[in-house]
Amino acid sequence: MRKIAATYIFTGNQPPIKNGILSLDDNGTILNISQPENLTEQQNLEFYSGILVPGFVNAHCHLELSHLKGRIEENTGIGGFVGKINLLRNTETGDVEKAMQTADKLMWAAGIAATGDISNSLLSIDTKRKSRIFYHTFIETFGFHPSRAERAFDFALYLENNFSENGLACSVVPHSPYSVSQALFEKIRDHVAQKRSILSIHNQESQSETEFFETGTGGIATHIAENLGIDISHWKPTGKSSLVSILEYLPKENTLLLVHNTFTTGPDIEFLLENRAPGNTFFVLCPGSNLYIENALPPVPLFRKHNLNICLGTDSLASNHQLSVLEEMKILQQNFEETGLEELVKWACVNGAKALGIDNTFGSFETGKTPGVNLITGIDFRNLKLTEKSKIKRLV
Ligand SMILES: [Zn+2]
Repeated sequence: MRKIAATYIFTGNQPPIKNGILSLDDNGTILNISQPENLTEQQNLEFYSGILVPGFVNAHCHLELSHLKGRIEENTGIGGFVGKINLLRNTETGDVEKAMQTADKLMWAAGIAATGDISNSLLSIDTKRKSRIFYHTFIETFGFHPSRAERAFDFALYLENNFSENGLACSVVPHSPYSVSQALFEKIRDHVAQKRSILSIHNQESQSETEFFETGTGGIATHIAENLGIDISHWKPTGKSSLVSILEYLPKENTLLLVHNTFTTGPDIEFLLENRAPGNTFFVLCPGSNLYIENALPPVPLFRKHNLNICLGTDSLASNHQLSVLEEMKILQQNFEETGLEELVKWACVNGAKALGIDNTFGSFETGKTPGVNLITGIDFRNLKLTEKSKIKRLV
């Protein structure tokens, strides 16, 4: 048994406990959380100056792109970024697997206990099987031209079978509103409706996505026609935002992770909440990646006003400097000062666990759960805020 005390315990779903003690068994299962009147010296008690938080849940990552760290310059915009990924992905001969293993170890050390990871191939299976991190793999399909729908979908089923046979949690998902044809969306919709599986989609990551749906022009149109060389003559802009245009393909019974939401508007949220329940709808924010690609940040005050379930993601090393949920929290606190630390911890832990359907085990300090224990030091205790110097140390 281990007893760990700190200046504050942030449980993930309850107000912080000052000078609390967390008791765990040898497997890391929470036995008890207490708040003694005097934190006197007890036998075997570890005391830390800092805050204890549960293991983080990284709700959006692409392990497969780990070898592209530092390869793509910043502020290319989404069209330029996706174009570069396609180029480098196909020509890169470096050790992709080794880069994934390193990224996985660094995420573990950065206090990440569970990850929602996008995969387009079987490459990450070995890393995930050996990892101490829990992974839910989102098997991502894309195919802008309707003629590609069948092949893309069949390949996704092949990947899904392989991940499942390896005992890894997974589900088939669409890449984004602009890269999936109606025919492919319909196949995915029918498949996930039957499986009741978890959905994730890159949503409104750029202004050009909106432009593409409203007018059929802009950076995405150029990317598809020129970089990919795909005939876009069948494309009819809907005159509506991308989210409004494709929501019908994302069954409301399925848990849905909307990733990025950098250019989501008030009317989009209203439409969304008219069409599905807030309880199984999650807004995954990846501010580090948004700054890297678009030099923009999502409208966090709008999401807070609507009391939406916010989670955090690192996105991939192709568009971020590190895979650290704590660094994402720092960016949000710096840019949206009204967001308190308790709220940020909730986004980083329990909301992500709910999104991935693993909150029985992860995301909060509650008796019987095994969420992992992180210590964050370098806290501004007077204002209860993170600082530039805040660091993470995994204790359990
Ligand atoms: Zn992504």
